[in-house]
Amino acid sequence: MNIENHGACARRIEADLTDSSSRPIVSFPAGGLADPATWGASKAEDATADSSKLSTSEMQLKDGSRVAVVGGGPAGSLFSYFLLRTLSMSGVHVTLDIFEPRLFTHSGPSGCNHCGGVVSESLVQILAMEGINLPAEVVQRGIDSYQMHMDVGQVQISTPLMEKRIAAVYRGNGPRNAPPRMGAGFDRHLLDMAVMVGANWRHQLVSGVEKSGDGWRIGCAGGEGGTYDLLVVASGINSALLPILDEAVIGYRPPTSLRTFIAEFHMGKSVIEANLGSSMHVFLLDIPGLQFAALIPKGEYVSLCMLGDRIDDRMIETFLGSPEVRECFPKGHVPQNVCHCLASINVGPAQRPYGDRFVFIGDSAVARLYKDGIGSAYRTAKAAAATCSLQGISASAFRAGYQPTCRSLTRDNAIGRFIFAVCHLIQKLRFSRRGVLRMVEKEQSIPGKHPRMSSILWDVFTGSAPYTSVLLRTLHPAFLVSLLWNLFVANLPGAASTSREVHPT
Ligand SMILES: Cc1cc2nc3c(=O)[nH]c(=O)nc-3n(C[C@H](O)[C@H](O)[C@H](O)COP(=O)(O)OP(=O)(O)OC[C@H]3O[C@@H](n4cnc5c(N)ncnc54)[C@H](O)[C@@H]3O)c2cc1C
Repeated sequence: MNIENHGACARRIEADLTDSSSRPIVSFPAGGLADPATWGASKAEDATADSSKLSTSEMQLKDGSRVAVVGGGPAGSLFSYFLLRTLSMSGVHVTLDIFEPRLFTHSGPSGCNHCGGVVSESLVQILAMEGINLPAEVVQRGIDSYQMHMDVGQVQISTPLMEKRIAAVYRGNGPRNAPPRMGAGFDRHLLDMAVMVGANWRHQLVSGVEKSGDGWRIGCAGGEGGTYDLLVVASGINSALLPILDEAVIGYRPPTSLRTFIAEFHMGKSVIEANLGSSMHVFLLDIPGLQFAALIPKGEYVSLCMLGDRIDDRMIETFLGSPEVRECFPKGHVPQNVCHCLASINVGPAQRPYGDRFVFIGDSAVARLYKDGIGSAYRTAKAAAATCSLQGISASAFRAGYQPTCRSLTRDNAIGRFIFAVCHLIQKLRFSRRGVLRMVEKEQSIPGKHPRMSSILWDVFTGSAPYTSVLLRTLHPAFLVSLLWNLFVANLPGAASTSREVHPT
């Protein structure tokens, strides 16, 4: 596979949003900004912050208030949708502008938001309960199972609910050189929903933000964006705006991130059906630095996502050259010169993601570790919108209404880190891979058997349940006894897995 250009591709993604015409037009004199202590500050600091000088009613959204949402990805669109819906129920009419330069109608990196596009089981259900159903043209494929590939064999894990609830979607209009698709991708669908409930979509790139009186002045590439009472930053983690806000906005520190690799292989529907079916293929391979890799079938294409500490050409080549991966492609041939990019993923929370009249949501604030980023965009968007409409837009309102959601995601991620360290150990130790494989095979082959290991792996791979719940289930005595037994039996001399062992060529 020709990957020498992926660095250039990553730069092109940045360039999409930061071309030379989009240099900040608004400067940020340090002294011209409010006291740093007001920005997502501690309780004691809140007490002395700007909000204390203003009456509660001045820190509320009311008729005629103006809200700027920077970024129309899932976080920005869902925030706008929830806020406008809730405010309209209480008869409050605000102007809400979403700044989003992408149309999501171009194919290739410029038209998408760089992601595996797996919408978790739990999120599909939650969105449906919110009245947001994903139409057939948005869902590229319903995923009904996971295929776990290891050097000691492979095994299929079916959805515990026996329903096709996981959705594989494109965030934009599909890979480069793909024929234009009918209908919108996932992000455009959500953005259109926000517009339907009254949001104004401004097709502009925000290049700077400045405090202006009690509100904010937005600077856009090619002109003034306007002034607003509330600033909501939902620009994701790949945005060039975050370092600008880091320097200029008082106390906010962007999240920590990890580089990832995404590629799109054209294989055609029938070949995908024959080789991959409706399973997501997850690889637990002992490749140094590789955390997680998966092939996700979608329509005519298969997306590859790789996460790791140091994704580079060598690691990608090693991965694509491994027998476990090659056997997923027809005749073991991995297509070359495919649409690919390097994108960042959120792996650590932002500091001070809120303050008087501003809040950061989605990837710009906090996301679930490695999984269900769209789900955390939903959670932060909903919590921030509820806070703005019910409690106000002061730092103390966000502390009370919004921070608990960020804190609970951050705490759960600490457990997630431990779980991934254990998964990493399993990846490294052949005897443990054999034990895990045997346990899953037994569970999947005996109907009615409680699939303890399968459901744990399912939730780790899909992000369908909090990491805390996954950890608690691993501590169940029945799980531990069964694991020990399977480790023992699978490693007895002459023990054979029911699935074929893959031997390196
Ligand atoms: C390799 C990889 C695979 C992933 N796979 C999955 C997965 O399968 N499932 C899942 O749930 N999550 C996945 N994620 C995570 C997921 O992509 C993010 O968590 C999610 O997109 C966050 O949504 P967001 O709205 O906060 O940010 P984004 O989706 O990044 O949206 C930000 C928006 O802001 C716009 N923007 C940026 N800068 C500006 C500016 N200056 N002015 C105006 N607009 C701007 C952008 O154009 C973009 O539309 C993956 C991430 C990576 C890197």
